[in-house]
Amino acid sequence: MHAAAIAALSAGALLAACLDRGPGDLLGNSAPDRSGRQPWTIILSDDAGRVLIAQTDSALAPGEDSAAVGRATLWRTLDGPAEPDSFALGVQAHGRRLEWSLRRAGQTVGSGSGALLAYPGDEGAPRYAGLAAITLAGVPPAMRFDAIGGLPMPADMPAPVAPLPIAARGVVSLRVDDCSAWDSTSLRLLERHHLVASFAVPSRLVGRPGRCSRDLLERIAGAGNAIDAHSRYHDAAPAGFADFYIEAVGASRDLRAMGFDAAVFVQPGSWTVGPALFDSPAKLATPYGALIRRVYRALEAYQTDAASVPLPAAGRWPYAGEIRYFDRERLAAFVRDAAARGEWVEFLWHSGDQPWDALDGRLAVIAAMRDSGYVANLTFRDALRAVPPAP
Ligand SMILES: [Zn+2]
Repeated sequence: MHAAAIAALSAGALLAACLDRGPGDLLGNSAPDRSGRQPWTIILSDDAGRVLIAQTDSALAPGEDSAAVGRATLWRTLDGPAEPDSFALGVQAHGRRLEWSLRRAGQTVGSGSGALLAYPGDEGAPRYAGLAAITLAGVPPAMRFDAIGGLPMPADMPAPVAPLPIAARGVVSLRVDDCSAWDSTSLRLLERHHLVASFAVPSRLVGRPGRCSRDLLERIAGAGNAIDAHSRYHDAAPAGFADFYIEAVGASRDLRAMGFDAAVFVQPGSWTVGPALFDSPAKLATPYGALIRRVYRALEAYQTDAASVPLPAAGRWPYAGEIRYFDRERLAAFVRDAAARGEWVEFLWHSGDQPWDALDGRLAVIAAMRDSGYVANLTFRDALRAVPPAP
């Protein structure tokens, strides 16, 4: 009785608080500001796996009475140069719909009208979807489109990086996945052995209960470790290319907003099906792989099962083995043999997946191999450009 009265009171107080926030916030799916000035990205896709992207060159607030028009760029190949032509993209809002048109030299070459999608997880990027009519040579006349505000893909490809000469013949890189609050202990053990790792961070899990905090990420980065991207939510495989775009481009932008340059995209192991499960070199040749190459310097996924690769890596990398499956003797032998062949190996763990003293012992083996001059310990992004001495 008493408990029920308190529950009823709480429900009333909760409802009052909720009404202040509006029904969208109540469901956690409030539509982000769709009328604000922001870059607009039109993703055109079809069932054959084709993807084109048209994107405004600058921010644009959708017009209400007439279309707002800005200069735009069109990519038919997401990891290649843009079309040389200059385009204009117009966007106009009609309630919960968006109309857009793409023009080249005064001629309309694409247009579409679509409804606002709002769902948990799209905070910060209004997204409309519908059907587009296209009149571009070599492009189907009808494609699906997603129009996304405020989440542009980079206009330029990642800049090339300089080679990194190292004194050792082999390289060991380490990876810590998934942004656990326990990463603070992983950091302490790494620091104790003067080792560095790459931390693969699902950007929208930062700050959640049981997860790494932004403050912890700053301490991790400050100790010489790399912060890399591991999608936004580490959820099930993206349902389509636009969902993948939001996870891949969004994670980079989220981490950049926190001050971190995510050079590498680590595919979530939860993407177990479809084109975003990068389990073969063929999948890297798709628009999914191309988008990753546009945003990141490398993709770590499951397309290789090579336990070690020769250095310089020349674009290859080893499969990351889980360090908890190596006892100290096997770990020492594996690293020593790879170093003798001039190769790179990588180990990963999830904080808490093994007793801390066991992880400490394994890291002690790697530190000893480093101290003996067999291997350099580099982050994944640095290992990609490592050049050992000639044999
Ligand atoms: Zn993961």
